[in-house]
Amino acid sequence: MENIRVIIWNENIHEKKSEKIAAIYPNGIHGAIAEGLEKFGYNPKTVTLDMPECGLSDEILDNTDVLIWWGHLKHDAIPDEIAEKVKQRVLDGMGFIVLHASRLSKPFKLLMGTSCRAKWRENDETERIWIIEPGHPIARNLPEYIEIDKEETYGERTDIPAPDELIFISWFSGGEVCRSGCCYKRGLGKIFYFKPGHEEYPIYYRDDIRQVLANAVDWAKPSNGPKTTFGNVQPIEKI
Ligand code: ZN
Repeated sequence: MENIRVIIWNENIHEKKSEKIAAIYPNGIHGAIAEGLEKFGYNPKTVTLDMPECGLSDEILDNTDVLIWWGHLKHDAIPDEIAEKVKQRVLDGMGFIVLHASRLSKPFKLLMGTSCRAKWRENDETERIWIIEPGHPIARNLPEYIEIDKEETYGERTDIPAPDELIFISWFSGGEVCRSGCCYKRGLGKIFYFKPGHEEYPIYYRDDIRQVLANAVDWAKPSNGPKTTFGNVQPIEKI
């Protein structure tokens, strides 16, 4: 496993406010995601909203290859200038994996340019995630579909831009569907939005969900391609 520097950012509010959710995620949602990635040979670090600069100092952001984000209740607690810095780091090549309700996070909305709102319902419905691009790197080692017995329902239309690549579509037992695995490129950065992960269910302990996240980290890592040149330049050839 190459040394991809992964940071998992979690607001870490539900786990502190609710005994029920603390029992599901005693080490936080970030802890469960980190444990999953460790099984694939990654060595992720975790940061939380209550840390200085919301856990997203320049030093941390400048040393991150892939940022994973889980937020729900406190999107507005991220100052605009930090959201802007995250966006800029993505444009400069940092991978960005946006989970569940984090579609409404400031950096994701800045990168998408839309409201990112959706229909939703907490009703213990089944989610069946269809892997519709089995040749995509994020689909590696996945079955034809992933079935989650109980999840929060999201429904279309979700106000996100058409993804550059749509990898998963979810069906819910209540009747809705939603685009649940969406790839975007913005600047030099790759962004993956992945829908599952409601805090009331132990989703991030599942082997199949952990496989998706490990695949997504590998896909989203920076390419380390050539430096871009802008502006007026001299000809390479003698003319
Ligand atoms: Zn939720």
